[in-house]
Amino acid sequence: MTATYAPLNPTPRILLGPGPSNVPPAVYRAMSAPLVGHLDPEFVALMEEVKQMLREVMLTKNATTFPVSGTGSAGMEFCCVNLIEPSDEVLICVNGVFGARMTDVAQRCGAQVATVQAPWGRIIEPEAVATALKEMKAPKLVGIVHAETSTGVRQPMEEIARIAHDHGALLLMDCVTSLGGCPVRVDDWQVDAAYSGTQKCLSCPPGLAPVTFGARALEKATKRRTKAQSWYLDLNLLAGYWGQDRVYHHTAPVTMNYALREALRLVLEEGLEKRWARHEQNHYALKAGLEAIGLKLASQEGHQLWQLNSVTIPAGVDDATVRRRLLQRYNIEIGGGLGEWKGKTWRVGLMGESSREENVMLFLAALGNILNDFGCRIDTGAALSAASAVYRQRGEKRCEA
Ligand SMILES: *Cc1c(COP(=O)(O)O)cnc(C)c1O
Repeated sequence: MTATYAPLNPTPRILLGPGPSNVPPAVYRAMSAPLVGHLDPEFVALMEEVKQMLREVMLTKNATTFPVSGTGSAGMEFCCVNLIEPSDEVLICVNGVFGARMTDVAQRCGAQVATVQAPWGRIIEPEAVATALKEMKAPKLVGIVHAETSTGVRQPMEEIARIAHDHGALLLMDCVTSLGGCPVRVDDWQVDAAYSGTQKCLSCPPGLAPVTFGARALEKATKRRTKAQSWYLDLNLLAGYWGQDRVYHHTAPVTMNYALREALRLVLEEGLEKRWARHEQNHYALKAGLEAIGLKLASQEGHQLWQLNSVTIPAGVDDATVRRRLLQRYNIEIGGGLGEWKGKTWRVGLMGESSREENVMLFLAALGNILNDFGCRIDTGAALSAASAVYRQRGEKRCEA
């Protein structure tokens, strides 16, 4: 007996979790375009476009800017394996899951890792980084997460970059969740190396990790005493394909590059400032709506991400039940808390294509209804009015950063 399998038929969801976010139709269309070879002159031209578009979105002139094959974590691993040599002293800032992941990756590269910790939901204070660096002999790298998706905190970058450089260390920035949703200024902030991912605020399916290396990072990666421990992620080998020579290294995921090209085109068509302002406005509308029904964001006031909102779960409400009902009744996906915040927070993403007024209103209405099932006595109308007021007031407001 051979089994029969139904044709693939995934439900179109409203993706309001920590990623992936909803994908615009133009990106889906790009993914059904005919495949060409990874060395086809047309694909080579597309690679050049993708590199240039990424420079525009990352606000950098770095020639070494391209998408690594793999998700955001591959970008993290790419940066670490190329920038860290065994026994290098490295400082990683940890205030959530992704800082902790970077610590693990750096340790696997053979680094002597020190960490600066901050409580979940709070930023890393620059003074703490300075103090930690003073205790190290020859720190080579400081790693930090710009948008901590596990907590919803946006980390101020500039001062920490300056401190790292004062101590002779490179600055590595995780901008997986920030890119395309709030200002990311690689050159202005003097970030030496950064990596991102496609499925958060760029609204492209998961599968590529944009990376950028400045001059100092490039020097470290190209003048290593030891080979990078990863063949697949070795910058010196990848440069042969993404640089001018076009030497085969691995078969580029052609279709994913189509998708990223189209997603980046849409980002640039909207304009970075406008896109940031859209994320900002939808965040404030959501926040106002939640506050009107007594719900609070768990992350530090003044440093809350626009694209990821960690909401404290009210007492007596079961995390998993609410998320299941959101999915079953309203087709909405949100994320649960991670690590220390598991069962304590919901993570509501308003990323890229998902960051829309209609999603904010629908989510507030859906959540209000579900909480009422728990006997919470929620005035859903008050949440909607408060959110609407933000849209009215801030109709023309420009982005603050
Ligand atoms: C999602 C995320 C990652 C990892 O990306 P994957 O695509 O899941 O591999 C890394 N850092 C941050 C801040 C993220 O939000």
